[in-house]
Amino acid sequence: MEKKNFYDLTFDQLKEFLIEKVGIVEKQAKMRSQQMFNAIYKKNIKSFDELTTFSLDLREKIKDLISLERSAKIIEIQKSKNDGTIKFLLELNKDKRQTETVLIPNKSKSKYTICLSVSVGCFLNCKFCATAQIPKKLVRNLSASEIMSQIMICKEYLNDWKTSNKLVKTQVLMGSGDFALNAENVRTYIQNAKHKDSLDYGRTRITVSSVGLGNKIKDLSVIEWAARELDVYFAWSLHNPINKQRLEMMPNGNYSIDDLIPKFKKYYQITKLPIFIEYVALENNITKEHANALVSLMKKVPSKLNLIEYNPLDNRDFKPATQENIDIFSKIIQDNGFLALFRKSKGRDINASCGSLALKRVT
Ligand code: SF4
Repeated sequence: MEKKNFYDLTFDQLKEFLIEKVGIVEKQAKMRSQQMFNAIYKKNIKSFDELTTFSLDLREKIKDLISLERSAKIIEIQKSKNDGTIKFLLELNKDKRQTETVLIPNKSKSKYTICLSVSVGCFLNCKFCATAQIPKKLVRNLSASEIMSQIMICKEYLNDWKTSNKLVKTQVLMGSGDFALNAENVRTYIQNAKHKDSLDYGRTRITVSSVGLGNKIKDLSVIEWAARELDVYFAWSLHNPINKQRLEMMPNGNYSIDDLIPKFKKYYQITKLPIFIEYVALENNITKEHANALVSLMKKVPSKLNLIEYNPLDNRDFKPATQENIDIFSKIIQDNGFLALFRKSKGRDINASCGSLALKRVT
């Protein structure tokens, strides 16, 4: 029988597994699951031999049924000389495909935000994004254990195992891919990342990101499903509030902004968390017309604006906005009472900034 990867199981699934497959009695299953979660996620044990709260017999039995193997290994680590951003190129055990994870330091370089990928490359085709250039034949979703491997590898690199005052303080699922196309695996990952006996991240320490898709899960729009099932911050990759222009930049189906607005309002009603509107600052989307259209959208959806510096890479079709135009644009947003933050791109020298993850190695 093929072993189950531990990191693909939620806490409740582990409990069931221990009862059904390992033969642990029902009233002990919760306690045993807690012991396993604590030892594996908080103490980073690598083998069930180290699970000394379990009898030798029980450990042997579990070893035959569950694997603790990381689903990915490091191929290359690149560190930005400019700002300390660290990019990990990872190879996935399953099929040797590659994905990337980025650690972004804060100003004092004492804490990090981890940027996780949810797929190899991306199924979508945003024109300004290098990830979209990865050949579609390589693209596939990552399993929950492949997403978890990314943070475990980074925590190992930083030796970040203190239960409070973690070095990896926040997580954004904004690397390669759109979570809404890999929702079930992302749910397993987030449940484990939030669990008190596991990595114990609060709901406001995690952000998922999507262009805003119209797909449904169990009759719910994926956006409402995420509010109920994930309950973390939602970053909407909007990038242009004028529908026709947005579809040209992001030809990802016919999900009109007007159709998505009620879904994001619902997200806010359920979670009480504002939506982060992600907006890459390009020459042709940072005009007064765009600012006014965005203000009208922000009046409908409780939200905050994150303006992102554009890193042009090899893409000659898009140019970054000038600082002067960014300032005028931000002022219109702020004068209407909304929050607009401008984020300088980090990790530019190692192709680790937003929209530049394209599996490029150092040459
Ligand atoms: S911007 Fe995000 S959704 Fe669009 S192609 Fe890039 S990774 Fe995919």
